[in-house]
Amino acid sequence: MRANIDGHFLLIGLMAYPIRHSLSPKMQNIIYSKLDVPYVYLAFEVTQEKLPDAIKGLRALGLRGSAVSMPNKQLVCQYLDKLTPAVELIGACNTISNDDGVLTGYNTDGMGYMRSLKEAGVDIIGKKMTLLGGGGAASAIAVQAALDGVKAISIFNQKDECFDKIVEIAKRINEKTDCKATVYDLDDQAKLRQEIAESAVLCNATGVGMKPLEGQSLITDPSMLRKDLVVTDCIYSPRKTKLLEIAEAQGCKTLNGIGMMLWQGHAQIKIWTGQDAPIDYVKEKMG
Ligand code: NAD
Repeated sequence: MRANIDGHFLLIGLMAYPIRHSLSPKMQNIIYSKLDVPYVYLAFEVTQEKLPDAIKGLRALGLRGSAVSMPNKQLVCQYLDKLTPAVELIGACNTISNDDGVLTGYNTDGMGYMRSLKEAGVDIIGKKMTLLGGGGAASAIAVQAALDGVKAISIFNQKDECFDKIVEIAKRINEKTDCKATVYDLDDQAKLRQEIAESAVLCNATGVGMKPLEGQSLITDPSMLRKDLVVTDCIYSPRKTKLLEIAEAQGCKTLNGIGMMLWQGHAQIKIWTGQDAPIDYVKEKMG
């Protein structure tokens, strides 16, 4: 518990619903204590109906910023003054920075994923990646990868409500960046095999592998994975998904979603406080 909170401390929020289960307040406040910076982070139950008033409140009270999660990530963009190029392309924001009354929307999920690759010594710039999924995480990863210089992204999604949305995002990536993004139906297994064979990295950004789909993998044939392919999963609970188990058995380098989660938090803290979060310390504290 911070014992030294005084009148100079600033508030950083988290606006989402439901949100009481989130680990972010614990993680963020541990970091602010360790860095000894005058910020506290609190979660607020904000529904879509309450969002316009919540943003007015953020401005009126002079919050330093706020994290934004479901169901507000898309809706919030219209209430902000500026959006980063990534947020423009994704159409969703998970981080607001309040700089003297000017609200800027960022998306740090893709930043976190790309940083986790870099920290693990994986070089994907100028290469191709295959991405499973077309929801929030996949959109953020595809856009950040494209902005960072990944040459081509082959995206596979099932024909659900996410499919048309990721097709739209791929179109924007192709118009606004030098990356070539292509969306395929996940049912096209021959195409999936071919695209993985040409990729340096395979990323699972679907919920397949975590509850209620724990123990399942979108890749079931190990021969689709060659030894020098890096296989990553956005899921961090469980730490080792079925996909990562299959990949490990094939001799692939694997990464779970912990790095993405920690580095996206690192990016948020850099935006709000200008400081570098002590990632190893957080890992140790969060277990
Ligand atoms: P989302 O609901 O926006 O998207 C879900 C995606 O999974 C969609 O593409 C959907 O088509 C696909 N999907 C769901 N069930 C499927 C099935 N049975 N077969 C094939 N595809 C299926 O969710 P999201 O926010 O994009 O999250 C996706 C995953 O990424 C989750 O596991 C989440 O925990 C993880 N995630 C991790 C981090 C991190 O920091 N590590 C951040 C965000 C999300």
